Amino acid sequence: MKRQLDRRQLLTGFVALGGAAVTAKKAHASLHRPGSDFLHWDNSSEKRLAFRNVHTDERIDARFFGKHGYDERGLAEINHGLRDWRTGDITEVDTDLLNLLVSIRDRLDISPNQPFDLICGYRSPLTNRMLHERRGRHSGVATHSQHLLGKATDIAMPGVPLARLRMAAEFNQQGGVGYYPEDGFIHVDTGPVRSWRG
Ligand SMILES: [Zn+2]
Repeated sequence: MKRQLDRRQLLTGFVALGGAAVTAKKAHASLHRPGSDFLHWDNSSEKRLAFRNVHTDERIDARFFGKHGYDERGLAEINHGLRDWRTGDITEVDTDLLNLLVSIRDRLDISPNQPFDLICGYRSPLTNRMLHERRGRHSGVATHSQHLLGKATDIAMPGVPLARLRMAAEFNQQGGVGYYPEDGFIHVDTGPVRSWRG
């Protein structure tokens, strides 16, 4: 029970983000098996991420961290899922970014199995050049340059207002957060701490 109490105490800190977190907590609690003190998203020895690529509808749900540390198979699955969907190029995605996404999702008390909508993960130099030429100098390509390093994602979370997702992302002060309400996503990276509106 202690674990649940801790979770509740943690949640009170996030009430400023909106009351829906408490409602979500109740919804998840109904999944809790009677007699078990195990809530799978509270298991600190396991980390997983799920994504749905909005361009291809491809879905992944991978455990990238377990009892023995980082899970190479899970990381490979995520690297593949976050590849440049235009060219197929794959990079090694920054694990700090993966941990940041987990903490954003947990802050919103969302189940690890619920996928982020993935608008952009890794971006190859070729794609970056193409976007730069197509959209011109003021396209925001520069602000998205962390994608070239495997340190950025453009994401949304179905059912979560974008402003709320942005607040959860900025809470950490761990990198860059761009807010793109007209495009329906936020940019999250593990570069220098900064925030902007697209
Ligand atoms: Zn971006």
